[in-house]
Amino acid sequence: MAGIYIHIPFCRSKCIYCDFYSIGANEALVDSYIGALVSECRLRYDELRGEAVHTVYFGGGTPSLLSLNQLKRLIDGIGSIVDLKCVEEFTVEVNPDDVSHDFVSGVSALGVNRVSMGIQSFVDDELSAINRRHTANQAIVAVGTIRNAGIYNINIDLIYGLPGQTIESWDFSLSEAVKLNVPHISCYNLSYEEGTRLYRMRESGLLTECSDDDCIAMYKLLSRRMRDSGYEHYEVSNFAKPDMYSRHNSAYWSGAVYLGLGASAHSFDGVSRSYNIANVRRYIELMSSGTLACERESLSEVERYDEYVMIHMRTSRGVDVKDIIRIFGSQFSSHFVSEAQRHVDSRLLLCIDGVYCLTDEGVMLSDMIIRDLMW
Ligand code: SF4
Repeated sequence: MAGIYIHIPFCRSKCIYCDFYSIGANEALVDSYIGALVSECRLRYDELRGEAVHTVYFGGGTPSLLSLNQLKRLIDGIGSIVDLKCVEEFTVEVNPDDVSHDFVSGVSALGVNRVSMGIQSFVDDELSAINRRHTANQAIVAVGTIRNAGIYNINIDLIYGLPGQTIESWDFSLSEAVKLNVPHISCYNLSYEEGTRLYRMRESGLLTECSDDDCIAMYKLLSRRMRDSGYEHYEVSNFAKPDMYSRHNSAYWSGAVYLGLGASAHSFDGVSRSYNIANVRRYIELMSSGTLACERESLSEVERYDEYVMIHMRTSRGVDVKDIIRIFGSQFSSHFVSEAQRHVDSRLLLCIDGVYCLTDEGVMLSDMIIRDLMW
């Protein structure tokens, strides 16, 4: 089982917290980029090692910035190289201000059956403070439009810990999210990444960071509200109604092969990881001369162990020590068990029959715990 990720690195404006690679776009540049994506697919599809493609994910950037014609050309191009008939989940990320009935029914006709929408907050002041282009009401209307056009598998993204956000305003955003009754919600704690405008504003004293205590209280509220509303907390940042987990992301977390196409996309062929150049124009040049645009790294055993622990501990399935013994041997499992025990004693980890998972308290400290468990 394999997945394809396609990065669309274009945005109309930059949200102040965002450190994903994206630039402004014009039609000619997007057209050239689509040609380059198809060329890259042709150059690299054998990295899928003959495995059937079960998930396709268009992320960004802003895939909804492409016209239906451009999306059709891209999907037809990929489909002429890779067999897409086994695809079960085909996700496109959208911005609320791009959603129209025509757009959603158009992408649905192209095979898309899941939409992921960055909403981030249902408070307009919070949205404008982080330079989002849409209002809360536009996001609510967009969810209705997506459903009316026939796509019901919808994810929404939210952020907590925004500057100026309060427990009460986060509670309000969660209530609005729950009312929408979408099957999947991803919630991220705001992080201040170097190089972003958000980071510079904090360094210049232009905004006040949400306190750790408030972030913890927001996380606890989130966890409770999601559970009470029938969502399963299946990964640190992800909540889903039963059987509505993201298949694409779940495949990443289980170590499946995936091919990432586009500027700044990364891939895993089962043995090595590769990272594409984060420069659209250079990427297009390289693809038009039939040259790969990626750097490849083979992971050492320690790196593979660290990655295994990091990915699996973030999921509700946790880490089974028997799997560590089977994959990495007893030296790694001894290290894991001895480091894990003190977190079990502190009730940050739960251990049942050799399977270790984060407790609710542990999820809030997951970065620190995972660091301890790594080699
Ligand atoms: S729309 Fe998404 S990718 Fe683009 S700047 Fe905002 S958060 Fe980043």
